[in-house]
Amino acid sequence: MSDSYIKIATIKEIQEPESTSKRVIEWMQQNNYIESELSKSGLGLDDLAFKPSSNHVEIVGYDENITRLNACGVEFKTGRQVSNSLAFNPLIKMICKHCGENRFKDFTPQEFYTDATPPDKLKLYTVMFKLFEKWEKGETASLICPICDQHSNLDEYEIEGSICLTNFEMTFWNWPDLKTEFMKDLQDLIQSPIKRMNGHL
Ligand SMILES: [Zn+2]
Repeated sequence: MSDSYIKIATIKEIQEPESTSKRVIEWMQQNNYIESELSKSGLGLDDLAFKPSSNHVEIVGYDENITRLNACGVEFKTGRQVSNSLAFNPLIKMICKHCGENRFKDFTPQEFYTDATPPDKLKLYTVMFKLFEKWEKGETASLICPICDQHSNLDEYEIEGSICLTNFEMTFWNWPDLKTEFMKDLQDLIQSPIKRMNGHL
């Protein structure tokens, strides 16, 4: 069976990821959306997450009986990371702060998905994964814009699509889609813009 996920992350790094995480966890526990203790309910057999609790159906709208699954927990991460980087592709827009152009403006889905992108062009995309690693380690991650030839740091790009350069991420394993109301409550608690990213493994 394949696993699905919903990731919710702040679109930028926040000042106090630890205390934000604590605040969200406590609020979700008080409302009985998640259990009070961590258990092995993440994706990997030993990955710790909070299992859905008695009221979790309130925030999804209908009962899919997800607690029967091994991976059904909510996982919290507060380290610096490129959230949802596995889903990164050149159809995501990366806007340069100098010229306002999208680094991947010349990519087309047809070329990309049929492996027909010319190698020189493809490199604009493939170099990104190394940069993600550098950024996550706190190293300098700067790149040259192919359009205006100017340098920027990775986190100076405006990214339109399903990844976040973040230090606060929640992953809901195999949960049905979350209610808008819940997203609003979360937004109020986190107090920094968030993004929801759905995916499958
Ligand atoms: Zn540029």
